[in-house]
Amino acid sequence: MIGGGYVGLEFAQMFAAFGSRVTVLESGPRLLPREDSDVAEALLGYLREDGVELVTGAAAKEFVREGGKVSVLLEDGREVKADDVLAATGRAPVTRELGLAAAGVRTDENGFVEVDDRLATSAPHTWAVGDVAGSPQFTHVSLDDYRIVKANIAGGERSTNGRLVPWNLFTDPELARVGLTEDQARAAGHDVRIAKLPVMAIPRARTLRDTRGLWKAVVDRDSEQILGVALLGPEAAEVVTVVQTAMLAGLPYTALRDGLIAHPTMAEGLNALFTSWVD
Ligand SMILES: Cc1cc2nc3c(=O)[nH]c(=O)nc-3n(C[C@H](O)[C@H](O)[C@H](O)COP(=O)(O)OP(=O)(O)OC[C@H]3O[C@@H](n4cnc5c(N)ncnc54)[C@H](O)[C@@H]3O)c2cc1C
Repeated sequence: MIGGGYVGLEFAQMFAAFGSRVTVLESGPRLLPREDSDVAEALLGYLREDGVELVTGAAAKEFVREGGKVSVLLEDGREVKADDVLAATGRAPVTRELGLAAAGVRTDENGFVEVDDRLATSAPHTWAVGDVAGSPQFTHVSLDDYRIVKANIAGGERSTNGRLVPWNLFTDPELARVGLTEDQARAAGHDVRIAKLPVMAIPRARTLRDTRGLWKAVVDRDSEQILGVALLGPEAAEVVTVVQTAMLAGLPYTALRDGLIAHPTMAEGLNALFTSWVD
């Protein structure tokens, strides 16, 4: 697998589960560089347990097919042999052939359509949504872009500013994220409290017979507002929406600590998470 981004890691684990021997070659120094290292390491540990070999600092530069094998030559001279190579090195906009300039629609040097916060392009009455507009590359963001443009075409003033964008990495276990990481919150100058809960501590995880994972919350010490969570574990992609809703409503973390949540559910773990302070 060339590229250790989200798609690369999902597909690497999937093929390992099918029985392939999988090596991920990532050119960067770290996998999951935007995640806190404790969360990233926990997830990468599960991938390694599943037999995925993870190699960082490995920039692929040439592929040579010899018989049934492919040789992947790395920039540092190393060579990796495989039966097949999958490339997951990111997606680029396909705008070069469209003649957008003739219509007055500007693109940036990478081909993304330039838009303002209302998703209006440089040409009147012309809008762009989704990946091609440089929005975060998620299906739900594309949908939200559409809603914003629909409102603005009708004379509204909806903006992409300040959107709270959740996302999930659908590995097994899955990683669900919303808001800031601990590193991002500290860099932004927040005085933070950090809570961490092993998924093992959640009764529902035991009944699901899947106790792998770690939940982490980042809270602003003064305002008690939830700044972000990283939920690694079964059903995390569902539970994160509960936290997102609390954040959208501006609720303090105590609402999730004290809320009476039904047993046995994974969401019930939120009661315990917000009592499990490590910092
Ligand atoms: C393997 C993979 C897994 C992903 N998993 C997730 C996930 O779990 N969750 C998530 O939220 N996001 C996921 N994404 C990202 C998500 O698919 C994209 O962010 C989303 O599809 C973007 O929607 P879009 O409408 O902007 O672009 P697209 O879905 O790419 O749609 C653009 C469409 O325009 C068409 N098109 C292109 N050029 C022209 C032309 N000249 N004329 C007419 N039509 C044209 C294309 O054929 C395409 O159908 C994943 C992406 C990949 C590749």
